[in-house]
Amino acid sequence: MNSNSGGNYTVNSENSALYVVATPIGNLGDMSQRAVEILQQVALIAAEDTRHSARLLRHFAVTTPCVALHEHNEREQSSRLLQRLANGESVALIADAGTPLLSDPGFHLVQQARRQGIRVIPVPGPSAVIAALSVSGLPTDCFKFIGFLPAKAAARRQRLAALAAEPCTLAFYESPHRILESLADMSEMLGSEREAVLARELTKTFETVQGGSLNELQAFVSGDANQQKGEMVLLVAGAPAVETALDPEVERILGILLEELPVKQAAALAARITGVKKNQLYQQALTMKN
Ligand code: SAM
Repeated sequence: MNSNSGGNYTVNSENSALYVVATPIGNLGDMSQRAVEILQQVALIAAEDTRHSARLLRHFAVTTPCVALHEHNEREQSSRLLQRLANGESVALIADAGTPLLSDPGFHLVQQARRQGIRVIPVPGPSAVIAALSVSGLPTDCFKFIGFLPAKAAARRQRLAALAAEPCTLAFYESPHRILESLADMSEMLGSEREAVLARELTKTFETVQGGSLNELQAFVSGDANQQKGEMVLLVAGAPAVETALDPEVERILGILLEELPVKQAAALAARITGVKKNQLYQQALTMKN
Protein backbone atom coordinates (compact mmCIF):
# COMPACT_ATOMS: atom_id res chain seq x y z
CA MET A 1 0.00 0.00 0.00
CA ASN A 2 1.39 3.41 -0.93
CA SER A 3 0.25 6.69 0.49
CA ASN A 4 0.04 10.13 -1.01
CA SER A 5 -0.94 13.50 0.34
CA GLY A 6 -4.22 13.48 -1.61
CA GLY A 7 -5.57 10.76 0.65
CA ASN A 8 -5.84 7.89 -1.88
CA TYR A 9 -4.20 4.70 -0.72
CA THR A 10 -3.78 1.79 -3.09
CA VAL A 11 -2.94 -1.71 -1.99
CA ASN A 12 0.24 -3.06 -3.50
CA SER A 13 0.56 -6.66 -2.42
CA GLU A 14 4.22 -6.74 -3.36
CA ASN A 15 4.83 -3.97 -0.93
CA SER A 16 2.99 -5.03 2.17
CA ALA A 17 3.20 -3.13 5.44
CA LEU A 18 2.11 -3.24 9.03
CA TYR A 19 0.14 -0.06 9.75
CA VAL A 20 -0.03 1.07 13.36
CA VAL A 21 -3.24 3.05 13.41
CA ALA A 22 -4.41 5.45 16.12
CA THR A 23 -8.15 5.62 16.79
CA PRO A 24 -10.20 8.08 18.91
CA ILE A 25 -9.99 8.18 22.72
CA GLY A 26 -13.66 9.14 23.00
CA ASN A 27 -14.74 11.52 20.28
CA LEU A 28 -15.29 9.76 16.94
CA GLY A 29 -14.68 13.07 15.19
CA ASP A 30 -11.00 12.57 15.94
CA MET A 31 -10.72 9.59 13.57
CA SER A 32 -8.53 10.64 10.68
CA GLN A 33 -9.55 10.14 7.06
CA ARG A 34 -6.28 8.35 6.46
CA ALA A 35 -6.97 5.94 9.32
CA VAL A 36 -10.36 5.05 7.83
CA GLU A 37 -8.93 4.52 4.36
CA ILE A 38 -6.08 2.35 5.61
CA LEU A 39 -8.46 0.24 7.70
CA GLN A 40 -10.75 -0.21 4.70
CA GLN A 41 -7.94 -1.28 2.42
CA VAL A 42 -5.70 -3.62 4.42
CA ALA A 43 -6.31 -7.38 4.23
CA LEU A 44 -6.66 -7.76 7.97
CA ILE A 45 -7.05 -5.72 11.15
CA ALA A 46 -5.48 -6.88 14.40
CA ALA A 47 -7.53 -5.40 17.23
CA GLU A 48 -7.04 -5.59 20.98
CA ASP A 49 -10.72 -6.47 21.46
CA THR A 50 -12.58 -7.32 18.25
CA ARG A 51 -16.03 -6.83 19.78
CA HIS A 52 -15.09 -3.39 21.10
CA SER A 53 -13.55 -2.33 17.78
CA ALA A 54 -16.52 -3.67 15.78
CA ARG A 55 -18.56 -0.62 16.82
CA LEU A 56 -15.90 1.79 15.61
CA LEU A 57 -15.36 -0.10 12.37
CA ARG A 58 -19.09 -0.28 11.66
CA HIS A 59 -19.40 3.46 12.21
CA PHE A 60 -16.77 4.10 9.54
CA ALA A 61 -18.07 1.42 7.15
CA VAL A 62 -14.93 -0.69 7.52
CA THR A 63 -15.71 -4.30 6.63
CA THR A 64 -12.14 -5.65 6.76
CA PRO A 65 -11.85 -8.91 8.73
CA CYS A 66 -10.56 -8.56 12.29
CA VAL A 67 -8.51 -10.83 14.52
CA ALA A 68 -7.75 -10.39 18.20
CA LEU A 69 -4.28 -9.47 19.37
CA HIS A 70 -4.10 -9.00 23.12
CA GLU A 71 -1.63 -9.52 25.93
CA HIS A 72 -2.59 -13.20 26.28
CA ASN A 73 -2.08 -14.22 22.64
CA GLU A 74 0.33 -11.61 21.31
CA ARG A 75 3.19 -14.01 20.53
CA GLU A 76 1.18 -16.68 18.68
CA GLN A 77 -1.01 -14.15 16.90
CA SER A 78 2.04 -12.12 15.88
CA SER A 79 3.58 -15.17 14.20
CA ARG A 80 0.44 -15.65 12.11
CA LEU A 81 0.31 -11.95 11.22
CA LEU A 82 4.00 -11.86 10.31
CA GLN A 83 3.41 -14.81 8.01
CA ARG A 84 0.61 -12.98 6.24
CA LEU A 85 2.76 -9.86 5.96
CA ALA A 86 5.55 -11.99 4.51
CA ASN A 87 3.02 -13.32 1.99
CA GLY A 88 2.45 -9.78 0.77
CA GLU A 89 -0.72 -8.84 2.66
CA SER A 90 -0.99 -5.57 4.57
CA VAL A 91 -2.17 -5.59 8.16
CA ALA A 92 -3.38 -2.78 10.44
CA LEU A 93 -2.97 -2.81 14.19
CA ILE A 94 -5.44 -0.90 16.37
CA ALA A 95 -6.06 -0.64 20.11
CA ASP A 96 -9.36 -0.19 21.94
CA ALA A 97 -8.61 3.54 21.99
CA GLY A 98 -5.78 5.85 21.07
CA THR A 99 -2.38 4.80 19.82
CA PRO A 100 -1.41 1.12 19.97
CA LEU A 101 1.58 0.11 22.12
CA LEU A 102 1.03 2.94 24.60
CA SER A 103 -0.06 0.83 27.56
CA ASP A 104 -1.57 -1.39 24.88
CA PRO A 105 -0.49 -4.54 23.02
CA GLY A 106 1.61 -4.60 19.87
CA PHE A 107 5.21 -4.23 21.01
CA HIS A 108 6.19 -7.80 20.12
CA LEU A 109 4.50 -7.60 16.71
CA VAL A 110 6.16 -4.29 15.80
CA GLN A 111 9.55 -5.41 17.07
CA GLN A 112 9.43 -8.66 15.11
CA ALA A 113 8.11 -6.99 11.97
CA ARG A 114 10.98 -4.50 12.00
CA ARG A 115 13.50 -7.26 12.66
CA GLN A 116 12.16 -9.15 9.66
CA GLY A 117 12.48 -6.11 7.42
CA ILE A 118 8.73 -5.59 7.09
CA ARG A 119 7.73 -1.96 6.69
CA VAL A 120 5.98 -0.58 9.76
CA ILE A 121 4.05 2.59 9.05
CA PRO A 122 2.49 4.86 11.67
CA VAL A 123 -0.93 6.35 11.09
CA PRO A 124 -0.80 8.88 13.92
CA GLY A 125 -3.72 10.30 15.80
CA PRO A 126 -5.12 10.55 19.32
CA SER A 127 -3.33 9.45 22.43
CA ALA A 128 -4.56 10.29 25.92
CA VAL A 129 -1.10 11.11 27.27
CA ILE A 130 -0.26 13.57 24.48
CA ALA A 131 -3.72 15.17 24.64
CA ALA A 132 -3.32 15.63 28.40
CA LEU A 133 0.20 17.04 28.13
CA SER A 134 -0.84 19.47 25.43
CA VAL A 135 -3.35 21.20 27.72
CA SER A 136 -1.67 20.71 31.09
CA GLY A 137 0.54 23.77 31.24
CA LEU A 138 3.29 21.54 32.65
CA PRO A 139 6.69 21.36 30.92
CA THR A 140 6.53 19.20 27.81
CA ASP A 141 10.16 19.59 26.69
CA CYS A 142 10.93 16.52 28.74
CA PHE A 143 8.39 14.03 30.04
CA LYS A 144 8.50 10.46 31.23
CA PHE A 145 5.62 8.17 30.33
CA ILE A 146 5.03 5.73 33.16
CA GLY A 147 1.63 4.35 32.15
CA PHE A 148 -0.16 2.42 34.90
CA LEU A 149 1.43 2.19 38.34
CA PRO A 150 1.44 -1.22 40.03
CA ALA A 151 -1.92 -2.09 41.61
CA LYS A 152 -0.38 -3.29 44.89
CA ALA A 153 0.39 -0.50 47.35
CA ALA A 154 3.92 -1.59 48.26
CA ALA A 155 5.05 -1.94 44.64
CA ARG A 156 3.35 1.34 43.72
CA ARG A 157 5.11 3.23 46.48
CA GLN A 158 8.42 1.68 45.55
CA ARG A 159 7.96 2.78 41.93
CA LEU A 160 7.08 6.30 43.06
CA ALA A 161 10.11 6.45 45.35
CA ALA A 162 12.29 5.58 42.37
CA LEU A 163 10.72 8.47 40.44
CA ALA A 164 11.00 11.10 43.19
CA ALA A 165 14.15 12.77 41.82
CA GLU A 166 13.10 12.60 38.16
CA PRO A 167 13.27 16.15 36.77
CA CYS A 168 10.95 15.53 33.79
CA THR A 169 7.15 15.76 33.92
CA LEU A 170 5.74 12.36 34.92
CA ALA A 171 2.79 10.97 32.97
CA PHE A 172 0.59 8.25 34.48
CA TYR A 173 -2.49 6.43 33.28
CA GLU A 174 -4.76 5.85 36.23
CA SER A 175 -7.82 3.81 36.98
CA PRO A 176 -10.77 5.59 38.62
CA HIS A 177 -10.81 2.95 41.38
CA ARG A 178 -7.29 3.76 42.42
CA ILE A 179 -7.03 7.48 41.82
CA LEU A 180 -7.41 8.45 45.48
CA GLU A 181 -4.90 5.88 46.70
CA SER A 182 -2.43 6.92 44.03
CA LEU A 183 -2.80 10.61 44.81
CA ALA A 184 -2.21 9.88 48.50
CA ASP A 185 0.89 7.83 47.70
CA MET A 186 2.18 10.47 45.29
CA SER A 187 1.70 13.19 47.90
CA GLU A 188 3.75 11.20 50.33
CA MET A 189 6.47 9.94 48.01
CA LEU A 190 6.85 12.93 45.65
CA GLY A 191 5.84 15.79 47.97
CA SER A 192 2.35 17.13 48.54
CA GLU A 193 3.23 20.55 47.06
CA ARG A 194 4.24 19.15 43.66
CA GLU A 195 2.17 20.64 40.87
CA ALA A 196 -0.03 18.12 39.04
CA VAL A 197 -2.84 17.97 36.50
CA LEU A 198 -5.66 15.46 36.33
CA ALA A 199 -7.06 15.14 32.80
CA ARG A 200 -10.31 13.14 32.83
CA GLU A 201 -12.63 11.97 30.08
CA LEU A 202 -10.68 13.83 27.40
CA THR A 203 -12.65 14.59 24.22
CA LYS A 204 -15.84 13.32 25.90
CA THR A 205 -18.89 15.05 27.39
CA PHE A 206 -17.56 15.28 30.94
CA GLU A 207 -14.01 16.31 30.07
CA THR A 208 -12.26 17.89 33.07
CA VAL A 209 -8.71 19.19 33.27
CA GLN A 210 -7.89 20.18 36.84
CA GLY A 211 -4.54 21.49 38.02
CA GLY A 212 -3.17 22.10 41.50
CA SER A 213 -0.74 20.71 44.02
CA LEU A 214 -1.02 16.97 44.70
CA ASN A 215 -2.59 17.96 48.00
CA GLU A 216 -5.19 20.13 46.32
CA LEU A 217 -5.96 17.48 43.71
CA GLN A 218 -6.49 14.94 46.46
CA ALA A 219 -9.05 17.23 48.09
CA PHE A 220 -10.68 17.98 44.72
CA VAL A 221 -11.10 14.30 43.80
CA SER A 222 -12.15 13.09 47.24
CA GLY A 223 -14.71 15.90 47.51
CA ASP A 224 -16.52 15.02 44.28
CA ALA A 225 -17.53 11.44 43.45
CA ASN A 226 -17.80 12.40 39.76
CA GLN A 227 -14.07 12.99 39.67
CA GLN A 228 -13.57 9.35 40.64
CA LYS A 229 -15.21 8.12 37.44
CA GLY A 230 -14.15 7.67 33.84
CA GLU A 231 -10.77 7.54 32.19
CA MET A 232 -7.91 9.64 33.45
CA VAL A 233 -4.36 10.76 32.90
CA LEU A 234 -2.42 12.16 35.82
CA LEU A 235 0.55 14.41 35.11
CA VAL A 236 2.96 15.42 37.84
CA ALA A 237 5.63 18.12 37.55
CA GLY A 238 9.19 16.85 37.71
CA ALA A 239 11.33 17.21 40.81
CA PRO A 240 12.43 20.81 41.42
CA ALA A 241 16.07 21.50 40.52
CA VAL A 242 18.31 21.11 43.54
CA GLU A 243 20.91 23.84 43.78
CA THR A 244 24.26 22.27 44.47
CA ALA A 245 25.47 23.10 47.96
CA LEU A 246 28.00 25.91 48.19
CA ASP A 247 31.60 25.24 49.04
CA PRO A 248 32.09 26.18 52.75
CA GLU A 249 34.87 28.62 51.79
CA VAL A 250 32.53 30.42 49.37
CA GLU A 251 29.89 30.55 52.07
CA ARG A 252 32.45 32.01 54.52
CA ILE A 253 33.42 34.78 52.05
CA LEU A 254 29.78 35.56 51.39
CA GLY A 255 29.14 35.71 55.15
CA ILE A 256 31.93 38.25 55.70
CA LEU A 257 30.74 40.42 52.81
CA LEU A 258 27.18 40.27 54.12
CA GLU A 259 28.34 41.78 57.42
CA GLU A 260 29.37 44.92 55.56
CA LEU A 261 27.23 45.09 52.43
CA PRO A 262 23.61 44.77 51.29
CA VAL A 263 22.60 41.36 49.86
CA LYS A 264 22.86 42.31 46.20
CA GLN A 265 26.31 43.86 46.44
CA ALA A 266 27.62 41.08 48.67
CA ALA A 267 26.46 38.48 46.18
CA ALA A 268 27.97 40.38 43.23
CA LEU A 269 31.32 40.82 44.96
CA ALA A 270 31.39 37.19 46.16
CA ALA A 271 30.70 36.11 42.56
CA ARG A 272 33.70 38.11 41.35
CA ILE A 273 35.95 36.67 44.06
CA THR A 274 34.85 33.04 43.81
CA GLY A 275 33.61 32.60 40.24
CA VAL A 276 30.30 31.11 41.51
CA LYS A 277 27.11 32.29 39.72
CA LYS A 278 25.73 35.56 41.09
CA ASN A 279 22.19 34.18 41.14
CA GLN A 280 23.10 31.22 43.28
CA LEU A 281 25.01 33.48 45.66
CA TYR A 282 22.11 35.92 45.80
CA GLN A 283 19.69 33.11 46.78
CA GLN A 284 22.16 31.88 49.38
CA ALA A 285 22.71 35.40 50.71
CA LEU A 286 18.95 35.84 51.13
CA THR A 287 18.78 32.60 53.10
CA MET A 288 21.74 33.62 55.28
CA LYS A 289 20.28 37.07 55.94
CA ASN A 290 16.99 35.50 57.05
N1 SAM B 1 -3.32 3.58 23.89
C1 SAM B 1 -4.13 4.56 24.56
C2 SAM B 1 -3.60 5.96 24.25
O1 SAM B 1 -2.92 6.14 23.25
O2 SAM B 1 -3.91 6.87 25.00
C3 SAM B 1 -4.28 4.32 26.03
C4 SAM B 1 -4.70 2.94 26.38
S1 SAM B 1 -4.65 2.58 28.07
C5 SAM B 1 -5.06 0.87 28.08
C6 SAM B 1 -6.15 3.25 28.64
C7 SAM B 1 -5.90 4.39 29.61
O3 SAM B 1 -5.61 5.58 28.88
C8 SAM B 1 -7.08 4.74 30.47
O4 SAM B 1 -7.17 3.91 31.61
C9 SAM B 1 -6.77 6.17 30.86
O5 SAM B 1 -5.78 6.21 31.86
C10 SAM B 1 -6.17 6.69 29.54
N2 SAM B 1 -7.23 7.24 28.69
C11 SAM B 1 -7.79 6.68 27.60
N3 SAM B 1 -8.74 7.47 27.09
C12 SAM B 1 -8.78 8.57 27.87
C13 SAM B 1 -9.56 9.75 27.87
N4 SAM B 1 -10.50 9.96 26.96
N5 SAM B 1 -9.33 10.68 28.83
C14 SAM B 1 -8.37 10.48 29.77
N6 SAM B 1 -7.62 9.37 29.82
C15 SAM B 1 -7.82 8.43 28.90
